Amino acid sequence: VGQPTEPHIAILPSPGMGHIIPLFQLAKRLVTHHRLRVTFLVITTADPVPAAQNNLLRSDAVPSGLRVVDLPPVDVSELLAGVPPGLTPLCVMVEHSLRRHLRPVLLGLDGVTAVVIDLFCTQAFEICGELSIPVYSFFTGSTALLAFSLYLPTLDRETEGEFVDLPEPVQVPGCRPVRTEDLLDQVRVRKSDEYKWFFLHVSRLYKAAGIFANTWKDLEPVTLLALKENPFFLNIPTPPVHPIGPVVKEEEPYTESDKEVLTWLDKQKPDSVLFVALGSGGTLSSKQLTELAFGLELSQQCFILVARTPNDATAMGTFYSAGGIEDDPIAYLPEGFVKRTEGVGLVVKSWAPQVAVLRHASTGGFLSHCGWNSTLESVLHGVPMITWPLYAEQRMNATQLAVEAGVAAKPTVEPWREVVGREEIERVVRAVMEGEEGKVIRRRAKELRDSARVALDSGGSSCDSLARVVKAWKLN
Ligand code: UDP
Repeated sequence: VGQPTEPHIAILPSPGMGHIIPLFQLAKRLVTHHRLRVTFLVITTADPVPAAQNNLLRSDAVPSGLRVVDLPPVDVSELLAGVPPGLTPLCVMVEHSLRRHLRPVLLGLDGVTAVVIDLFCTQAFEICGELSIPVYSFFTGSTALLAFSLYLPTLDRETEGEFVDLPEPVQVPGCRPVRTEDLLDQVRVRKSDEYKWFFLHVSRLYKAAGIFANTWKDLEPVTLLALKENPFFLNIPTPPVHPIGPVVKEEEPYTESDKEVLTWLDKQKPDSVLFVALGSGGTLSSKQLTELAFGLELSQQCFILVARTPNDATAMGTFYSAGGIEDDPIAYLPEGFVKRTEGVGLVVKSWAPQVAVLRHASTGGFLSHCGWNSTLESVLHGVPMITWPLYAEQRMNATQLAVEAGVAAKPTVEPWREVVGREEIERVVRAVMEGEEGKVIRRRAKELRDSARVALDSGGSSCDSLARVVKAWKLN
């Protein structure tokens, strides 16, 4: 009898740093904590790979035992000509890549025990089914969104007209109601392609052998209980949900610009700096960026602003380029802003080492678009937030953070509805950085941080959840 070989797991994220980062972190965890072999499959197109993605996946810090393999590039540029940024282009890319390349690539790997995908790669269920390989889903959003997604086929069957026109919040059984204005962009217009793609993928979720949730019980107790107590959540067989979070980026190789940011932070006082960053894709309109700059200046607080060329047409201006083109912020920030705020503020072009910034003792607040990864990174480092939701499900996350978790302050004007003026920005920044509200949410953020550490530690709930699945893979 030969030596039993360690399970070999293939991990397949859809494009975008918000998917690649947490799935890559899971890959690292499986290799370093559980000694599994992992192949990380990357969907590629004819477009150049964003620098931030290369920096993460190609660095020397990738442990041995973890192999990064590019699927052959697909050219979807003609199909996507004129299609606005959003879920549709991402799904078209994935569809073409997986239909053509997933089967041969998996057959070329040596004995794959299981495949872990994110929500938008569900073509893998059929392809892996034919190869008798079980497929697990890693849900990169909140578990509240997961519950909503599992409920969507029922809601779709039972609702006439648009969900956003419903007179009451959407009540997912056992979960907190979702305000109709917080519903994610993809479900706002049911005839849209965005809806069709989202619906297609969520309606296949039940086929997963298990769903990894990027959360832990103290962050989303109500939703996790609802999913646990309803093994047949809403009359459909629901796969077991394994809360293994927070799964967030830990180490990152630093560029020269990153090092400058961290050196600047070293010189600031504890909890004194507000970090302003809108995920990998977020951009503001010219008018909003001007108001934000003046608001920061008026607040007289220290800040790091990750600046991107404004875009009046979409809030997802840099989604596929992860940070985007490095234009000179002097050209689009208010005249004299960089000079006037010198010493107090630091303007960084397009991309900052977010995790290292949030971990730094000088960072005391985070004005964030509330993407789920940013949310988890902030909570894990006990940093209170100011919510600035822009697209996708970020409004839902913002409400969850401000109203349920109590770790964030919301501006009184909602950024996705209208331009938030400089006085309101000044107010909310001061409230979080030096006001009573800030003290309360900072305390709560630190409590949640501690609970996250306990969950991840040996014997903690998230650590055990992952270990149980790994054990099942090893017995396979
Ligand atoms: N990120 C970063 N530097 C930046 C902007 C973003 O490292 O300047 C990382 C951030 O730490 C997070 C990810 O990019 O891990 C963004 O994911 P999130 O889910 O917050 O938002 P998305 O980009 O998917 O909208």
